[in-house]
Amino acid sequence: MPDDTAANYRNDTLVLGISDLKRLRRERPLVLAKGKGVYVFDENGRDYIEAVSSFYCVGLGYSDPELVEAAIEQLRALPMYPSGAHRTVPVVMQLAEKLSALAPFPRARVTFATTGSEANDHVLKFLWFANAAAGQPQRRKIVTRKGSYHGSTVATTAMGGGARLHALFGIPTGDMLHVSQTVPLPGETDAQACDRLVEEFSACIQQAGPDTIAAFYAEPLSVSAGMRPPPTDYFARIGAICDLHGIRLIADEVVTGFGRLGTFWGSEFVGAKPALMTAAKNLSSAYQPISAIIMGEEFADALEMASDTEGWLPHNGTYHAHPVAAAVALKTLEIIERRDLVGDVRRLLPHWNAAIARLRAHPLVRGTRTCGLLAGIDLNDPAATGPATSLKVEGVAQHVYDAALDCGLVVRPLVGSLVLSPPLVITEAEIDELVVRLARALDMVEQARA
Ligand code: PLP
Repeated sequence: MPDDTAANYRNDTLVLGISDLKRLRRERPLVLAKGKGVYVFDENGRDYIEAVSSFYCVGLGYSDPELVEAAIEQLRALPMYPSGAHRTVPVVMQLAEKLSALAPFPRARVTFATTGSEANDHVLKFLWFANAAAGQPQRRKIVTRKGSYHGSTVATTAMGGGARLHALFGIPTGDMLHVSQTVPLPGETDAQACDRLVEEFSACIQQAGPDTIAAFYAEPLSVSAGMRPPPTDYFARIGAICDLHGIRLIADEVVTGFGRLGTFWGSEFVGAKPALMTAAKNLSSAYQPISAIIMGEEFADALEMASDTEGWLPHNGTYHAHPVAAAVALKTLEIIERRDLVGDVRRLLPHWNAAIARLRAHPLVRGTRTCGLLAGIDLNDPAATGPATSLKVEGVAQHVYDAALDCGLVVRPLVGSLVLSPPLVITEAEIDELVVRLARALDMVEQARA
């Protein structure tokens, strides 16, 4: 019998992203072997509260038996069949119908991919394909916000990421225009911030030529840019400008979809009326990789017209709409509705907000923010100037991240701050325990600095 315990694997073979590759040679990474509810357990059986739900995605917590059953059932019935070439499988049709019914616009049509990055990448292809077929091949430019994250492919890195990331990978960014994130300037009111951001957006599209702009592409709330909710009228006003110029407003709901903010879609939370949306992560509670492009009728018709001119939609992928992933996603959506998880999140918010606010008393904490079941904790770090970003994390945030692991807690460090995004099924008692563990980690870092 081969010995397959993780302890017997070498640790210098695997290359891991957002990791120091040299460190991987000398130091074993944290190896997680199991999960249950909001907890994950490492190879030595030690528990950690996963306060980020594995990159904001395991909404139903770990090892939900119904999701496991759904996967097994589909594996038994038909483990794989690619959707495409005028063929599909029942569960994929069901999932498309379900998402269409849940979409915030009527008669939505849906297609699937594997990851959030892919969904966003494919939207760009669809936009360019549809615009060219509609006689507007010049309408290619995409306006996004600095510091947003839309994925790891070449095109989605160009969309978000920031100039440093573009330079590091030599990413072609020709069609991308970047405007400011919705971070208020010191002393600015909500209305002033809105005026400034809307004026900047208008100037950006006027300078490029409005008829060269395909879309304004935005996360309702950007976690990677420090989770700053937009000013109250931001999306309504930007949406009106988009409508005026035939620019599509696209919502990246990869993080914000399925209840994270206490509304089913993040677009509802921020008052955005997108022409189409992308979703992933909590769609399947991330037990299986699947993402969706959910199109409003206008865009779906434009894509169909492009298909007419060509005879078909020349786009497909082996794992898009994978039946096992679709079965898990369908079950996830059923559970979210049956258990009223979005209502649960709303009911949990007073407790969550109060628990996070308690951390403000800590000398290492400069401030806290919550938005739905998300929290941003700004740290007193003299080296971290400017807004939080997800670029290479150093300094206090990294020290707190390391200390939190020692205290049995996984948090997400950004530059100068931490993000928390626990499973949607977390309980009040678990929130309290999370805060106790985080306070302990903050104490450890504070004591080491003293
Ligand atoms: N969009 C947003 C807002 C995200 O936060 C992410 C990932 O964190 C993505 C897209 C990319 O999704 P994936 O990692 O599944 O490719």
